[in-house]
Amino acid sequence: MMTITYTVGNAVYVNMTNRCPCACTFCLRANGPGVYGSGPLWLDREPTVGETVESIGGRDFSVFRELVFCGYGEPTERLDDLLAVARWMRASHPDVKIRVNTNGLSDLIAGRPTAADFKGLVDVLSISLNTPDPAEYLRVCRPKFGEAAYPAMLKFAGDATRFVPDVVMTVVDEPVTSKSDQERCRAICERLGARLRVRPYESK
Ligand code: SF4
Repeated sequence: MMTITYTVGNAVYVNMTNRCPCACTFCLRANGPGVYGSGPLWLDREPTVGETVESIGGRDFSVFRELVFCGYGEPTERLDDLLAVARWMRASHPDVKIRVNTNGLSDLIAGRPTAADFKGLVDVLSISLNTPDPAEYLRVCRPKFGEAAYPAMLKFAGDATRFVPDVVMTVVDEPVTSKSDQERCRAICERLGARLRVRPYESK
């Protein structure tokens, strides 16, 4: 069975791909088959845009207020398909907020600047900043793009503030990210025009 959508609180989450250019040491994919009781999020194959729309369309959006592209992988690995689904969602449920949870590496994945693609289709971009330190980022996120990844992620975030109303950069609270590193991350966000969100640490 393929879990294309699942729900968390008042949000419908979309799981369109398991691909990701990173191999984060903390990745939930390494810890089990699913998150939040969602059922298995490993996909035997990637769902088509039509299958994804059908799955979303089966949800009752008088109850759910947000659509989140997240999944068990990096959603911008399928940027064109993601945008096609977002376009459908915008047209069919214009009052539902659309968010993309991303590692911010879509420019490197696509090989071109991508922030403008989200204009008018996405309300919130939540980008994993993780750390203020490029060397630490490399050690923890292990991106296949190597040292190019961290600056590309920051550039994408800065670009995105021109096209997406709410650009959020996330770090995990202590003990993962020290308070002093959180302040350094806050300064990075201020420079880029994004806002910092410190996510609670969830021990296993
Ligand atoms: S970017 Fe996300 S999906 Fe990819 S390895 Fe890191 S935590 Fe996992």
